[in-house]
Amino acid sequence: METELKTDYTVEEMVEGFVYNELEGKGLYGLNGSLVIQPEYQRHYIYNDGKRDVAVIDSLLSGYPLGLFYFVDAGTQLEVLDGQQRITSIGRFVRGKFAIKVDGLEQTFSSLAADQQKKILESKLLVYVCTGTESEIKDWFQTINIAGVPLSDQELRNAIYSGPFVTAAKKVFSNSQDARQMKWSSFVKGDPKRQGVLEVALDWVAKSNSQPIDAYMANHRYDTSSKGLETYFTTVIDWIDSTFTAAPSKHMRGLEWGRLYETYHTKPYNPSAVDKDVQSLLDDEAVTDKKGIYEYVLGGKSEPKLLNVRLFDEHVKRQAYNQQTERAMKEGASNCPLCAVGDNVNKTKIYETDAMEADHVTAWSNGGGSTLDNCEMLCVTHNRAKGNR
Ligand SMILES: [Zn+2]
Repeated sequence: METELKTDYTVEEMVEGFVYNELEGKGLYGLNGSLVIQPEYQRHYIYNDGKRDVAVIDSLLSGYPLGLFYFVDAGTQLEVLDGQQRITSIGRFVRGKFAIKVDGLEQTFSSLAADQQKKILESKLLVYVCTGTESEIKDWFQTINIAGVPLSDQELRNAIYSGPFVTAAKKVFSNSQDARQMKWSSFVKGDPKRQGVLEVALDWVAKSNSQPIDAYMANHRYDTSSKGLETYFTTVIDWIDSTFTAAPSKHMRGLEWGRLYETYHTKPYNPSAVDKDVQSLLDDEAVTDKKGIYEYVLGGKSEPKLLNVRLFDEHVKRQAYNQQTERAMKEGASNCPLCAVGDNVNKTKIYETDAMEADHVTAWSNGGGSTLDNCEMLCVTHNRAKGNR
C-alpha cells in the first residue's frame, strides 16, 4: 500500500456537502460528495456522547491539531480509513447538531462569534491518502484501529509537527549513541529510538507550562533550536542527581520527575541524610511500594501511604485474636481492650474475629513492625476511631 501526504484540507472543505444520517447514526459524505465518511468496514459513529465530540471542537478552537487522518483512494471517490469519528463530530457541529460550552455559555456553531467560526472552518486537517487493494486496506485498518497504531504516540507527534524543532530535538533525545542516554536511563523509561526519551522530556517541560505536549510542540514547531527543552530536561536530571547522590536504584526509573522537580526543587535537602533515609526504606521489607520512597522522602516523610506499608498477615492476626480472646474470657472482660476499660455496654463483649481489626501498637512511622508483639486486635468501632495507623 502506498501513502501520499496531502496537507491542505481545511475543515470548511471537509464538511462541504456533509450529510449526517440520524437514523443510521452515520456521517455519510464530505468534500462535496467526493469523500465517503463511513465505508462498510467502519464502525458506527460513537463520539456523540457530549464528551468526545465536544473535545474535538474544543481542540479546534484551541488550535490543537486533531492528529492524522487516513483516506483511501477508491478510484472515483475517497473513503475515510481513519478519522471518521472526528470528521463526523466536526460535521455535526457545523450543521448545528450539538452545542459546546464556551466561557460557560452553550454555543452552537451558528451562535459562535464570527472569528471563532472562522477559526474552526480554517483549521487544517492533515490527511494521508493511501492506495491499495481492498484487502490491503482492510488489513491496515485492523492494524491502526485494533492492534494499535504502529507508530508510537511521540512518533506520530513528530510527524504532525515535523519541522526544524523536531529535527533539533531528535538530535539530542533520540540518539541512543549519545553518552548521556546512559545516565538518563536511570531516571527515564523509554526507548530513545522509539522517541520515548523525547516524549518524557516534552512531557516534563509542557507540564511545567501547564500544557499538553501537543500544544508545546505546536508553539515551538518552527524554532530552529531545542535549547529550551534540553535545558529544562537537564536541569531536572541534575536536580535528581544532586539530591539523591547514591547510585540510583532501579525504582527511580520512570518516576514523574518533572512533577517532583516542580514541587520540591526549591526546598533544601541534605543529600547524605536523604541517601540514608532512602536506603533504610529500600531495605525495609514492610515498604511494598519502593517507587513511593522518593516522594515520601522529598515530602518530609509525612505521607506513609506513598509507601503502601505492609499490614499484618492473616496468621499474625489470628494468633493475636486467640491470645486476646483467651485472656479476656478468663478475666470476664471484652476481648477488645478499649471496650474492656471504662464504663460501656460492651465492657464484657467477646467479638467474633471478623468484627475486629488489627492495629499497630507502635505505628509503623515510629518504627513499629507488623509482627505479633506489635499487633493488637480492636473492635471495628475502636479501630476506625483510632484512624491513623
Ligand atoms: Zn472496642
